[in-house]
Amino acid sequence: MKVVEAMEASKNKTLSRVRGKDTKMEVKVRQELWRRGLRYRKNYRKLLGTPDIAFPGLRMVVFLDSCFWHGCPVHYKEPKSNVEFWRNKIKRNRERDKEQTEHYVCEKWTILRFWEHEVNDDFERVIAEIVKVHDDLAAQREAHSDVQEDLEGEVDFNDLCE
Ligand SMILES: [Zn+2]
Repeated sequence: MKVVEAMEASKNKTLSRVRGKDTKMEVKVRQELWRRGLRYRKNYRKLLGTPDIAFPGLRMVVFLDSCFWHGCPVHYKEPKSNVEFWRNKIKRNRERDKEQTEHYVCEKWTILRFWEHEVNDDFERVIAEIVKVHDDLAAQREAHSDVQEDLEGEVDFNDLCE
């Protein structure tokens, strides 16, 4: 595929994306994590923001942010029509991302966020980072397995610290 065609294709895909539906980028990352033995929940609705990848027992979530929908500073290109609509929409999305990140940090969860372009351009580094953080948390959990209960399903996000 030529570069221009590839760009057109990915742009169309982005614009036609139905929220909550798996994108190619998400599938690619999940498949590789699975191949490396990581077992996760995908689009985990029990958690704030429905993380693309979640390890509830480790209190770890991963978000993969589309360059378009999340307003990547490098790649976001404002649509030519309905400028005001898009400006507000993307602004709200960015604010929500920030709030969600703060909530997880505040609750002492580990949150990783990657841009779509990182997944595309730097796939190995993204995977290595997720695997490392996961393995470190799993090792810590193992070391404290006598005191730490499985937190899966017990997180109440109505109760978040402000
Ligand atoms: Zn980007």
